[in-house]
Amino acid sequence: MKIDRQFNTLTLLEYFFYIDNYKNYSDFNTLGLYRSLPENDKLSTDDKIAVREYAHRTFRKSFDFLQLKDPQTFVDVTYIGEELTSGDVKMIWNNIRTNQQKILADKRIKHRNFGDYSKHNCGRENCVWNGIMIRQGSWLAENNMHFNSDKNKYQQKLKSERRKFDRKKETQLIRKELENE
Ligand SMILES: [Zn+2]
Repeated sequence: MKIDRQFNTLTLLEYFFYIDNYKNYSDFNTLGLYRSLPENDKLSTDDKIAVREYAHRTFRKSFDFLQLKDPQTFVDVTYIGEELTSGDVKMIWNNIRTNQQKILADKRIKHRNFGDYSKHNCGRENCVWNGIMIRQGSWLAENNMHFNSDKNKYQQKLKSERRKFDRKKETQLIRKELENE
């Protein structure tokens, strides 16, 4: 069976239903599920948090892997509804840097060819993304906007960047790598 709908159009109960029955749907996609949460206009903040926590019960491992694969989504989803200070943001990205290294070290032992990553290096000394590992061609690699710039402008840019981003291809790669674990 297929869901055949965008996750970001689901209601709270529909999310729960599809999480419970994900094995029956060939187009169920864990990444897509998490990515849809910040974008879903039908859900309140509390609903989004409820779906996230419910999804974590089944997909926590895949979610943690997003720290390497799609760290911005990891951050967006982890801190839904929270107001972050610049100190928080710094700490969050520091933790992601550390966790990325752990994931990569673990992966390199198991697979010789594991993607092509490079470190974010935009030249700004205080950029929170400095040293963050980024997959070549991912939206973060191409994103020139930063947290210390105008926030609304940043969010708009982020949305348009994401639309452009070839999600399908990325998702397939991630799925493959998750299957290999
Ligand atoms: Zn930067």
